[in-house]
Parts: sequence; C-alpha cells; structure tokens
Amino acid sequence: MSSLIDLRSDTVTLPSPEMRRFISEAPLGDDVFGEDPTINRLEEETAALLGHEAAIFMPSGTMSNQIAIKAHTQPGDELLCEENAHIYVWEAGGPAVHSGVTSRTIAGRAGQFTLADLEGKIRPINDHYTRTRLVCLENTHNRGGGSVFPLSEIQRIRAWTREKGLAFHLDGARMWNAAVAGGHHPSEIAKEFDTVSVCFSKGLGAPVGSALVGPKELIGRARRIRKLFGGGLRQGGIVAAGALYALRNNISRLREDHINAQIIANAVRNSPNLMLDPDCVETNLVWFRVKQGKGSAATLAAKLRGQGVLVSNPLPDLLRACTHLNVNRADCEKTAAMLEEHFQSQE
Ligand SMILES: *Cc1c(COP(=O)(O)O)cnc(C)c1O
Repeated sequence: MSSLIDLRSDTVTLPSPEMRRFISEAPLGDDVFGEDPTINRLEEETAALLGHEAAIFMPSGTMSNQIAIKAHTQPGDELLCEENAHIYVWEAGGPAVHSGVTSRTIAGRAGQFTLADLEGKIRPINDHYTRTRLVCLENTHNRGGGSVFPLSEIQRIRAWTREKGLAFHLDGARMWNAAVAGGHHPSEIAKEFDTVSVCFSKGLGAPVGSALVGPKELIGRARRIRKLFGGGLRQGGIVAAGALYALRNNISRLREDHINAQIIANAVRNSPNLMLDPDCVETNLVWFRVKQGKGSAATLAAKLRGQGVLVSNPLPDLLRACTHLNVNRADCEKTAAMLEEHFQSQE
C-alpha cells in the first residue's frame, strides 16, 4: 500500500525539501532582544501583506487569538462571537481564563451572522452589566464548513463597531483560504479589522507558527503579554523561516485544495447515505454525516483507515475531510471512490 492519505487536518502537512532548505539557511538571533532577522522579516512581510502597521510572530493561532483578546479587554468585559467560533469552543475557555472575559454567543448560519444579529447585543452602561468590548469574527469559519464570510457584511459590521466604539478582531487562521476563494487580496479583508490572527501552519504548510497584526501600539502590548505568557522566542527564526517560505510561496496554490475538496464533497452529495453539514463547501473543509439509520460514522472512518485514508471523526456522527498541500487530486478521487463503495458493499 502506498503512503497514507491524511485528510484529518491541514495541520498535518510536512515541510517540502525547498522549505527545509530555506529553514536551514535562515539567519538567526535572539528575538527577545529584537535581533532575529528572520522573525523580523516575517513580521514586516506579514504586516505589509495584510495592510497593517505591525505584526508579531506567535507559536500558534490559539495564542494569537487569546493575546488579541487580552490586549483589547479588561477583566469583566464581554466579547461577542458566533456560537461555534474557534475562540469560544476550541480554545479551552481561554477568554475566561486568560482575560477574565465573558463570551456572548450569536447563533450563526454556517458560522456566519449579519449586522442584524449583533444589533441589540451591546449591554447598557450600568453597574449590573459586563462591558461589551469586542466583536470576534472567524473567516473562513472552521465548523461552518470553511465558509467564506461575505466582505460586504464584514464592512457593514466594521462600520457599526466603529460607531459603537467596539474593537473588532478576526480569527483569520483560515483567512488565506477566504481571500483565495473570494478573489480578494488578503489586505482587503484584513484592513476591516483592528487585529487579525493568521496561521502559517494550516493551509500554508509551515510546521509551526501564526501571527497577530494590528496597530503598532497594540502589537507592542501583545508582545508584553506574549512575554507574560512565557512566549519569548529567542532564535525562533528557525521556525519562522518555514512560515516566511509559506507566506511567499503557498498562498495562491490554496485554489488547488479548494478544487480537490469539491471532489470529496461531490462524493458526499452523490451518496444517498451521506450528507454535508453544513451544506456548503467553499474552501478546503468537507464536514459530513452518515444519515440516520445508515450506519455509524466511526465504522466508515475505520473502513477508510483500513484503506489508507484518514479522516477526522470529532463527534460520534460527524466526520471531516480536509484537503491540503500534501494530498493531490488523485488522492481525493481515490477517497471519493471509497466513500461511494462503502455503502455499495454494505447493501
Ligand atoms: C486552527 C485554528 C485556530 C488555532 O490554531 P492553532 O494554531 O492550532 O492554535 C484558530 N482558529 C481557527 C478558525 C482555526 O481553524
């Protein structure tokens, strides 16, 4: 059998020989002294690409998000986010633990909401209430099926947050995918927010790393908070080099991942026993279920594993396949065929 087709996540990618060479040649220094040339370069290029004043390299997307929340808030404040937001569901209760911030969730549709969903959610200024301080949006939305938040709605929400004096943060771990799918330059999306977190280790294929961009003063505070959390990075250029290589070389190719995801999504659509959830595949994530009475998701995942294909099975009836730069069209066609065969052999 050939090597595994690993569709569990776009975090499983391994550095290419070219990326490894670039990493091995990266100039290094002590980043706590501000002297790592590779981290400095990555921060400059990331800020420039996203149209922001400054950037700070971070070990993970979670850390970027949580430090952004802390930089925008005081204990006792509240943030608004969609109910399946990564910040709220998959970051171990971070806003409450790190920042003393409560989260008020908004029921979305495939991870998206509109200005109308936000209106009326700002608490009155009154000694009883938390202070509504921050709106967080996720684009693309992971649990929303990798859905792309419409830029026009982002702009409407942006105008409202300005008018109301709220900070506006984008969890942009997957915003590279949103930019490519929506045909936008990354800065067109990023400039609508006060701060944006991005990941280099997801679709872009770097081994480790994320960044937070925003105004210079705020990024300065984020640097202090990163230190507070034990995140000073010393010769971190050795990992930032992978991120820099990814930033320069791997954005536009995300289009291939989106095309490959459609191959798998079509197999799900064509199967009378499977259903997409949500029913939209716009980027590289295919979330799907086995219809009730048609068998278990775990059985399907195990069968695929036996044939060399890994998908994630995060809940008993839920599956996710994720395309990335280490799987190609043929891998996805093979997976699609297996999905179709699974039920034929059961009947
Ligand atoms: C993966 C992901 C993150 C965080 O990523 P880590 O680097 O694993 O901490 C944040 N937000 C979204 C939407 C993600 O998909």
